[in-house]
Amino acid sequence: MVYEKAHDIGGTWRDNLYPGCACDVPSHLYSYSFEPNPNWSRMFAPQHEIWDYLRRCAQKYDLLPHMRFGSEVASAEFDADKGWWRVTTVDGRCVTARIVVSGIGALSIPAYPKVPGIERFEGKTFHSARWDSDYPLLDKRVAVIGTGASAIQFVPAIAPIVSQLDLYQRTPPWVLSKPDRAMTAVEKALFKFLPATQKLFRGGIYWWMESRVLGLAVDPRAMKLAEAYAKFFINRSIKDPKLRRKVTPDYTIGCKRILMSDEYYPALTRDNVDVITSGIREVKEHSLVTEDGVERPADAIIYGTGFQVSDPIGPMKIFGVQGKEVRETWKDSGTEAYLGVSVAGFPNFFLLLGPNTGLGHTSIVFMIEAQVNYVMQAVRHVLKHPSATLDVKPEVQLRFNQKLQSRLDEAVWSAGGCKSWYLDEFGKNRTLWPSFTFEYWMRTRKFEPMKYALAAAR
Ligand code: NAP
Repeated sequence: MVYEKAHDIGGTWRDNLYPGCACDVPSHLYSYSFEPNPNWSRMFAPQHEIWDYLRRCAQKYDLLPHMRFGSEVASAEFDADKGWWRVTTVDGRCVTARIVVSGIGALSIPAYPKVPGIERFEGKTFHSARWDSDYPLLDKRVAVIGTGASAIQFVPAIAPIVSQLDLYQRTPPWVLSKPDRAMTAVEKALFKFLPATQKLFRGGIYWWMESRVLGLAVDPRAMKLAEAYAKFFINRSIKDPKLRRKVTPDYTIGCKRILMSDEYYPALTRDNVDVITSGIREVKEHSLVTEDGVERPADAIIYGTGFQVSDPIGPMKIFGVQGKEVRETWKDSGTEAYLGVSVAGFPNFFLLLGPNTGLGHTSIVFMIEAQVNYVMQAVRHVLKHPSATLDVKPEVQLRFNQKLQSRLDEAVWSAGGCKSWYLDEFGKNRTLWPSFTFEYWMRTRKFEPMKYALAAAR
């Protein structure tokens, strides 16, 4: 049974409907290995194509009858006597299950900035992940807060429509040229009739993306080359030295997600676009006032301020053995799991995209497939031992995380001189996998029962 809080499948690709929304990982890699799509229209497919693809897959594999839409899980509680989980939805429905897999994803709850006076604003406000397509942006004065992966996609799309766009930037992102193009009819036909060619193409993209790990995690000094290219890209795209200075980051490239767009910098050079780097002091009924005392009128505020990234459990409460809530466990250790999948003290409970299995350089679908393969083996193992539970050994989890953290300390995400949502409040990276994804794939290829305690229900 799959519990889904929304009324359709698709997650990110269902919720993010802003103009210009597209994947920044090439689609031939950002798709399932077992379900190649020869018909991607572009190297980087737009949102609606990805959403359609996901819906087609759900239908083809007959998953929809297993879905319970409009069912948000509030909590899951482990019953050690019976060896099962009691799962409760926010509307109070309750089911029991031997195995629970959390696949909620990290970036779904919008984060709104705490700006003094924001509640006084009388114009329109919405978040990039809750785009209001009914609101006509034509000839409006629009304030955009945030310059992350979402904003750099919708700013170029709306800049030609609005009368004025004030872009409030706290930290400039590093932006590189996006090697996007339409897929040709010949390529599509080749991929369709000679599937091996698409596999080859996908493989090429995989290794090209994977090579970035050399700079991100092996030796951040290698990022100097990428940084030089990014500066060249800024200089080529922007003539105004003042604007160039504003958009040039002061941290190592890769420390935050590297963004890709050929339209973003040209949009910033438009006469009706201003990049504002002074912090927002307050919001009034019809304007925003920055720290330097300048007041700018606005009809609408669009938040491109990202998501509440708390931990991989989101608002759910998960109670393991002896009724301990998972966050209580993480209060002492930090947000940790074994392979990002199993947490000691939470038997027969598995996470997808758990701690330290996010990526900054390539397709997350690759990681999800590796995790699903691992979890499925664990599930089969449990089913072979009726009424048994699998609980990862605490010392296994500890050793795994000690090694992982020592590798991460050297990586650009920690050493690159930026603040990002990859790091927790102690500056520890609890989000990203520290290495090549093929290493993760190798480590999850075979489930290792020895790393787990197998217990019978009491
Ligand atoms: P984001 O990358 O977290 O960017 C949020 C932006 O808002 C940052 O520029 C941030 O500034 C700014 N911000 C946040 N709070 C602020 C405040 N109080 N005042 C002023 N500025 C504030 O969020 P996102 O752009 O929505 O993207 C989130 C993630 O979604 C990405 O990292 C990526 O993983 C994913 N994404 C992927 C794609 C794709 O194509 N695959 C596309 C879009 C998004 P600071 O940098 O100073 O914090």
